Amino acid sequence: MTTAVEIQHLTKDFSSFRALDNVSLTVRQGEMVALLGASGSGKSTLMRHLPGFLTASAGEIRVFGQTVQAGGRLAGDIRRVRSQIGFVFQQFNLVNRLPVITNVLIGLLHRTAWWRSLLMRFSTVERQQALEALVAVGIEQTAWQRAATLSGGQQQRAALARCLVQGAKLVLADEPIASLDPESSRKVMELLAKMNREHDCTVLVSLHQVEFAIRYCPRTIALNNGRVVYDGPSSALTPALLADLYGSDARELFDPALTGDRPPANAATLPETLIAA
Ligand code: ADP
Ligand code: MG
Repeated sequence: MTTAVEIQHLTKDFSSFRALDNVSLTVRQGEMVALLGASGSGKSTLMRHLPGFLTASAGEIRVFGQTVQAGGRLAGDIRRVRSQIGFVFQQFNLVNRLPVITNVLIGLLHRTAWWRSLLMRFSTVERQQALEALVAVGIEQTAWQRAATLSGGQQQRAALARCLVQGAKLVLADEPIASLDPESSRKVMELLAKMNREHDCTVLVSLHQVEFAIRYCPRTIALNNGRVVYDGPSSALTPALLADLYGSDARELFDPALTGDRPPANAATLPETLIAA
């Protein structure tokens, strides 16, 4: 089995603050893994190291066997790795004034000649590809609208369409549902799962709601204060275990809007809205 992500002894200090502390983990190709943690636990910092947007204070990172960074130095041929990585962020990362379809086509820029990308010139075949990706995420009717006119959920689906067009082999979704209502959250998580199943995308998705980790991701890696405190089956994440791992912070990992302010006892007692999908 090929390894998609390999992190060894990753430590990140911001001045005197240690945001990541000796994190080591491996994600195999084809996995869909939740990165769980209360806010401030280091999820975004960890994700930003994978494409080399941040350089580590210590440690080594490989993506699909290629070194991204080691000992705080980025690899020289980092563009090749980045072209295989698609991103979806909590803060919707579309260009607001451009049509949705153009935002999706931006996924092709890494393999487009620089002068064509400057002119935003795309072929008919490429436009067709972008439309198909929008069909796949169910928002083809919005293709010619400006991105700013989309709802939060639609914007995240457009970002996923862009990953499809890019042909991303690794999708990093950093709290993609944190600003969405439960219904839109479900749709976005289902699409991530579909990309994982049908398009051979390895998915690493950070979440702070444990219900979604249990429902959609077979495996969870939980962070607390920059350390990996759990790495195993999501189904084993009982409230008792989470209370053990997080203490009073565990409450933040259950969404009161979904659970009526009470953590579910286990996956079998999840709210129906989550199970029915
Ligand atoms: P999460 O995504 O889990 O909410 P972050 O990775 O954003 O957590 O942050 C982890 C910790 O690192 C937080 O305490 C945050 O304040 C700190 N941090 C993140 N980025 C910076 C930065 N650029 N400078 C200083 N501290 C930072
Ligand atoms: Mg974050």
